[in-house]
Amino acid sequence: MTCDVCGGEFTPADEDQRRCSDECLEFVRAHKHARRKTLANLWKLHVRYTRPCPSGKVRHQKKRDAEQAARVAVRLRYDPVPDWLRIYECPACHGWHLTSKPGRET
Ligand SMILES: [Zn+2]
Ligand SMILES: [Zn+2]
Repeated sequence: MTCDVCGGEFTPADEDQRRCSDECLEFVRAHKHARRKTLANLWKLHVRYTRPCPSGKVRHQKKRDAEQAARVAVRLRYDPVPDWLRIYECPACHGWHLTSKPGRET
C-alpha cells in the first residue's frame, strides 16, 4: 500500500487505512480541501521545512539566509579572503548549506 500523503510504502492495519502514520493522517485533516496531487506537493514542502537534513548540516531555507550566515562566518574568522566559504543547494533537503570545501560554481 502506498501512502497518498508521503508516498511511502506501508502495511495497513485495516483495509480502509490509506495513510501510513498519524502524522500523515493529521496532515490530510489539516489540508482536507487540497487535491491529492496538491497534497503530495504540500507534503514535500512540509517535510522540507520540518525535517532536519540527512547530511546533519545546518539548513537555510532561503539562499539569502545562507548568504547572510556566510557573511557572518567570514567576519568571525577575520578572513580577508571570503572564497573559502561556499553556499550550495542541497540535493537531499533542497535547502541551502554552507561548506568550506572547494567546488564548482553554480
Ligand atoms: Zn505517509
Ligand atoms: Zn540538506
